[in-house]
Amino acid sequence: MKLARFTFDGRTRLGKVVDDHVVDIGAAVPEAGDSMRLLLDRFDEVRGAIEAIASPAFPLADVTLEAPVHDPRKYLAIGMNYQKHVEEAEAAGHGAPKTQIWFNKQVTCITGPYADVDIPKAAPDMVDYEAEMGVVIGKRCRHVRVENARSVIAGYFVVNDVTARDWQFRSPTFTLGKSFDTHGPIGPWITTDDEIADPHGLMMVLELNGEERQRSSTNDMIYNIYDQIAYLSQVMTLEPGDLIATGTPSGVGIAGNRFMKAGDVVRVSIDGLGTIENRFVDER
Ligand code: MN
Repeated sequence: MKLARFTFDGRTRLGKVVDDHVVDIGAAVPEAGDSMRLLLDRFDEVRGAIEAIASPAFPLADVTLEAPVHDPRKYLAIGMNYQKHVEEAEAAGHGAPKTQIWFNKQVTCITGPYADVDIPKAAPDMVDYEAEMGVVIGKRCRHVRVENARSVIAGYFVVNDVTARDWQFRSPTFTLGKSFDTHGPIGPWITTDDEIADPHGLMMVLELNGEERQRSSTNDMIYNIYDQIAYLSQVMTLEPGDLIATGTPSGVGIAGNRFMKAGDVVRVSIDGLGTIENRFVDER
């Protein structure tokens, strides 16, 4: 299934995308309101009802797709997780990591798959893009073994891990540089795990104003998705709706000293998961 959040006629709802329509699934899970996190809390119980529901349906062209999860408890991201990206960072003077490098994107940065993204007043000079595959957790878990990690995944989505590089490198933690409001576009929906044969075999492409800047298979991750879940869950309980950004390949803007300007359009596509496209605008 493709689980979405969408707005029609001023009201945001939960839905499932079927061909070129989105079906309002609210009647199958009324207590969730427009929260995908609350739906995922009970996904095993409500899945059959969601699969069965067929109306009301709206043409995708008539709705606004929103961030598929807008209220997660956490949004974690791994850095330096593709070898060629590590090499371009090393060329810029940043050391290669010897372990998984994790940081938070504060959840208030999350925005829709086609929403405008700010060039912040406080960080106008070094705003950058990062194409990534996103994972959403489906089961509350701790101490997950690598061989069991797939069973706690609800699904996958497309990420642009927008970053203010000056703020990122100004401090030993990346939190502020990764967390400006609107710097978390995700979507266009969650593709559930059962629809993806192997999450590590998907091509990911980023275009800036129609020109390709990043292209990689998700198979090129240094630490794969299951390694990431095992590592994180040694530390913390992972909960339904938690988001994980799994790292970006080479080709980020800083490597070529090309940062975002107002009017730039960044499009990220992953095979089987869809496309997000965001325009950069000066913060008002
Ligand atoms: Mn990233």
